Amino acid sequence: MPRSDALSPLFRSIHSLKGVGDKLAALLNRYFGAPQGQEAVVLDLLMHMPSGIVDRRRQVGIAEAYLNQTVTLRLHIDRHQPPPRGKPHIPHRVFAHDETGEIQLVYFRAQGGWVEKALPVGEERYVSGQIAFFNGEKQITHPDYVVEPADFTTLPLVEPLYPLTQGLSSKALSKLVRQAVDAIPALPEWIERDTLALRKWPTFPDALKAVHTPRTPEEGELLAPARQRLAYDEYLAGQITLQLLRSTMVSARGRSRSFTGEITNQVRSALPFALTGGQEQAIAEIRADLAAPDRMSRLLQGDVGSGKTVVALMAMAAMAESGAQSTLMAPTELLAAQHYRTLKPLCEAAGLGCSLLTGKMPAAERKAILAGLANGSIAIAVGTHALFQSGVEFNDLGLTVVDEQHRFGVHQRLALSDKGKHTDLLVMTATPIPRTLVLTHFGDMAVSVLREKPRGRQPIDTAVTSIAEYDRVVSRLQTRLAEGAQAYWVCPLVEESETLEVMSAEDRFAELAKIFGTQVALVHGRMSAAAKQDVMQRFAANEIKLLVATTVIEVGVDVPNASIMIIEHAERFGLAQLHQLRGRVGRGSQRSACLLLYKDPLSETARARLDTIKSTEDGFVIAERDLELRGQGDLLGTRQSGMPGYRLAVPDVHRHLLDFAHDDAKALLKRNPGLTGSEGEAARTLLYLFRKDLAIPLIRAG
Ligand code: ADP
Ligand code: MG
Repeated sequence: MPRSDALSPLFRSIHSLKGVGDKLAALLNRYFGAPQGQEAVVLDLLMHMPSGIVDRRRQVGIAEAYLNQTVTLRLHIDRHQPPPRGKPHIPHRVFAHDETGEIQLVYFRAQGGWVEKALPVGEERYVSGQIAFFNGEKQITHPDYVVEPADFTTLPLVEPLYPLTQGLSSKALSKLVRQAVDAIPALPEWIERDTLALRKWPTFPDALKAVHTPRTPEEGELLAPARQRLAYDEYLAGQITLQLLRSTMVSARGRSRSFTGEITNQVRSALPFALTGGQEQAIAEIRADLAAPDRMSRLLQGDVGSGKTVVALMAMAAMAESGAQSTLMAPTELLAAQHYRTLKPLCEAAGLGCSLLTGKMPAAERKAILAGLANGSIAIAVGTHALFQSGVEFNDLGLTVVDEQHRFGVHQRLALSDKGKHTDLLVMTATPIPRTLVLTHFGDMAVSVLREKPRGRQPIDTAVTSIAEYDRVVSRLQTRLAEGAQAYWVCPLVEESETLEVMSAEDRFAELAKIFGTQVALVHGRMSAAAKQDVMQRFAANEIKLLVATTVIEVGVDVPNASIMIIEHAERFGLAQLHQLRGRVGRGSQRSACLLLYKDPLSETARARLDTIKSTEDGFVIAERDLELRGQGDLLGTRQSGMPGYRLAVPDVHRHLLDFAHDDAKALLKRNPGLTGSEGEAARTLLYLFRKDLAIPLIRAG
């Protein structure tokens, strides 16, 4: 169903507005992030929320206009005092009065006579701005508004302030927004009447008007009815989209799988450990999904080191029992190779064909693997997104496991499900995700959680130390390595950058090599995949004792004998990153240590981050704290993945509305899955307004 005509005023190009030429249009396209080749539209202006409000309602006499107040005065203009010739740094002063006193209006570098024109001697003008004092005289420097008495209504007494960008003035933007507000059409209501009355919310058009042309400063506040309604609407559009996605994923029928138990039992007995209760439960949940006729779409959440890989393996082994193939997709070649090394021996023990497919392997090898995938002799394929490139054909792909992909958005999920038409999907996150974010980004998926760590894990001793202690740290490290320990030393940047004064990994490596000689090696992101892998392998084989690394080791790398993690410039890392990095140790039976080296001065939030890491190892607690510290943050890397961030909702403030939206979306689609009738029409309008066009084709044909 195409977009209804009622919406067309909102989807007109901003070019159609008065005052928008090619240059401003190009700037706004960029600023509002219009997709390549498309133009920003009127709606983009309306979705650009004010960041604050100026209250100009204080209309008093000069005598009652006090220092620093923003006021609106009605002034009689007395005389002008332009700067003397050749002294442009002296301001142009305008002397004015009302019945209560006198004031000066001050303009710096005001050339061309426009001040004289705007403030003609002998006439009256409304002037709005902030009161200052200079040499004991009241003045307003560069008033925000000067208007003729007849135009008083054009002076915004309650003025929203907008986030701006270079080349876009507040006045220019406000003018455009006002035109946009005038273009708002009447729209069908998608919120039920009772609910609307109960929450005392305005209609969507009225809410937009209240936010952009507020009559009182309160009207535009984040917790005012207007902003709440808009935030709710944005959440609702997202939730309906996720629910639609879920119902298509599920109803694009999977197959009922049945298991013999043969292969999974062999894998189980090949494991050098017993599975934890959490792992057992996750495996049971996955098996139940696979056995059901619906397609699986499940998120496996687990802290670093909670043992997600084995869960994936058991799922893939079960799939093999039912006669179908699986893929395990990792974000980097390094991780894919590591998974392969872990899985290979276990698969061999269970008689499962397992291969690694990467982007740059020799042609002959690649050909052999492609043949194995096509004839089904390879039951488990490990790789990167190369697994989903054209030319890769499976005999019968049943399950796709995506590892460590918290940057995996709705669009990617749709693309994947396109490839393996009926494959089940298991997504494993690298770090725990706060509940609210699970709902907004993975609301379409079922969730399994690994909360407990494998038995026998020792707590990690975490310490926070200034880099000024470098010598002591190194000598302590010497002792520990001599005792047989292995350690990581993580640096934040790859190359020397003098301006940032960051000790680069190369520099640090050179420093440490003077002391540790051939026991130390370097790995960073600019190295070739083969070189990286070689270093990692030597570290895993204990041929290297100390690994200097950039954050390439952040995600997933697993060397159980490594028990010391030193993070330099820890103050530059985010909480999730620090937690990930620390999770690289504490995987073996010996006691591990993590040392956070910081450089003074520490900002308050950096201090708070380091304290958090020191005080807890619980990734779920850390994730929640991260959300608090960063506000809406970028925990899920939404920017990189093209997942839309919120424009109207401010998660910190509006989080409670997400639950409503979730429930309401669910109820709506249950009641009216084809989104038919006037209720369905209204819901589609909502989806179009929030640019969820991709959801429209997912609506079940009624
Ligand atoms: P992550 O969830 O971070 O991906 P991994 O799957 O890499 O964790 O597992 C971390 C380490 O814990 C691996 O060395 C793995 O062999 C080990 N491990 C997994 N499950 C158990 C268990 N039940 N008991 C003991 N060790 C386990
Ligand atoms: Mg892992």
